[in-house]
Amino acid sequence: MARDFATDILDPVAREIVASVGVWVDREVRPTASEYEHADEFPEALVAGMAGMGLFAIKVPEAYGGLDLGFECYAGVCIELARGWMSLAGVLNTHVLVGYAIDAYGTEEQKARFLPRMVEPDIRAALSITEPDAGSDAQAIRTRAVRDGDDYVVNGQKMWVTNGQRAGVYLVLTKTDPEAEPAHRGISAFLVEPGAEGFSVGRKLEKLGYKGVETTELAFEDARVPAGNLLGGEEGRGFRHVMSALEVGRINVAARGVGVAQAAFDDSIAYAQRRVAFGKPIAQHQAQQIRLAEMATKIRAARLLTFDAARRKDGGERSDLDAGMAKLFATEVCQEVVLEALRLHGGVGYSTELPLERYYRDAPVMVIAEGTSDIQKIVIARALLRDHAI
Ligand SMILES: Cc1cc2nc3c(=O)[nH]c(=O)nc-3n(C[C@H](O)[C@H](O)[C@H](O)COP(=O)(O)OP(=O)(O)OC[C@H]3O[C@@H](n4cnc5c(N)ncnc54)[C@H](O)[C@@H]3O)c2cc1C
Repeated sequence: MARDFATDILDPVAREIVASVGVWVDREVRPTASEYEHADEFPEALVAGMAGMGLFAIKVPEAYGGLDLGFECYAGVCIELARGWMSLAGVLNTHVLVGYAIDAYGTEEQKARFLPRMVEPDIRAALSITEPDAGSDAQAIRTRAVRDGDDYVVNGQKMWVTNGQRAGVYLVLTKTDPEAEPAHRGISAFLVEPGAEGFSVGRKLEKLGYKGVETTELAFEDARVPAGNLLGGEEGRGFRHVMSALEVGRINVAARGVGVAQAAFDDSIAYAQRRVAFGKPIAQHQAQQIRLAEMATKIRAARLLTFDAARRKDGGERSDLDAGMAKLFATEVCQEVVLEALRLHGGVGYSTELPLERYYRDAPVMVIAEGTSDIQKIVIARALLRDHAI
C-alpha cells in the first residue's frame, strides 16, 4: 500500500532516518500497540527500540554525543512514531523539549552535566508547568522557590506531568518573585533531580487515552534544589525559556496529530476497498470517495504546516506563530479525521479489536496539552499583531 511520507521535502539524511523509523513502526509498533495500550502498560521494549535507534539523542548537539539532527527530521520521526502509537512520541516529547531548553539556555556546567546523560538515555526528562489551579494561565503558578544559601527551597504542587515516574530530570517552572510586574519576570525554571530532599512524585493519573506513558503529580515540601540547577543561572528568565521550548513541544504534538490521522486514513482507504455494500466496495460509492479525499487533503496540509514550523525552528527563528498554527491545525484535523474514519468503518470501527477506537481516544489530548486550541489561537493572534504592527 502506498503511504504518504511526504519525504520529498526532507533532506536525504532525514528522509532515510524517517523511512527507517517507519519500517520499525510497521514491524514492531503497529502489531503490539493496542495490547500495551489496553493494559496501560509502559512499553519498555518499544522505548528500548527507540533508544537503540538513537531517537533520544536526536536533538542533542554532537559535542555532547548526540545526533544533532534538524527539527524537520524530528517532526518526521514523530509522525512515524504516532502513526504506530501516539504515546511513543509523547515519551520522546518532554525529553527533547527539555534537552533543547538546556542546550539553548543552560549554563555551560548544566549542559556538560545533563546533555551527555540524555543521549543514552541514562536519564529521561519531564516538563512541569501545570498546577491544580494554573494551566493555560501559566503565569498564575504558585510553586515558590526561595533562595537559601547554596540552595533554593521549593514549595508547591504540580500536576499532569507526563513521564513523571520515569524521569531523571524535571524542568520545573516556579515563582522566585511573586510580586514581579509583569508576572513572567518573577518566574524561574529549575532542573530538579529525583531524590532531592522534600521532592516526591505522586500518583499516576487515570486517562481516557494517551495510555502506557504515565502522567503524574509532583509535590515540593521545603524541597532543596541546588542554586546551580537554576536554568541559565539567572532568576526571572524561566517563563521565556519554557515558552521557547514549548515551540518544540508544539511541533511534536502537531506531528503526533498528523501521525494518528495518517494511521486512521491508511486503515480507512484499505477497508473501503475491502468492504462491500450494495454490491460494490464502499470505495466505489461517491460519498466515501469524498470522505477519503477530504481526509487525505487535510492530512497533507497538516503535514506541510508541521514541516514548515519545524523548518523555521531549525532556522533559529522565533516560531510561536508557526508552531501554534501547525499544532492548532494538525490536532483539529486529527480529531476530524479519526471521527470520519470511524464513520467509514461502520460498526466494526467501534470494536476494541481495531486500533481506530485507540486513535479516537488519543486524539483529544492533542487539542488540550501543550496549550489548548483556544490558547494556540491567542498565541497566533498575538504573533500576527506583533508582526503586522502599524
Ligand atoms: C494527558 C495530559 C498530559 C499533560 N502533560 C503535561 C506535562 O507533561 N507538563 C505540564 O506542565 N502540563 C501537562 N499537561 C497539562 C496541559 O498542558 C493543560 O491541561 C493545558 O495547558 C490546559 O490547562 P488546564 O487543564 O488547566 O485548563 P484551563 O486552563 O483551566 O482551561 C479550561 C478551558 O478554558 C479555556 N481557556 C483558558 N484560558 C483561556 C483564554 N484566555 N481565552 C479563551 N479560553 C481560555 C481553555 O482553552 C479550556 O478550554 C497535560 C495535560 C494532559 C491532559
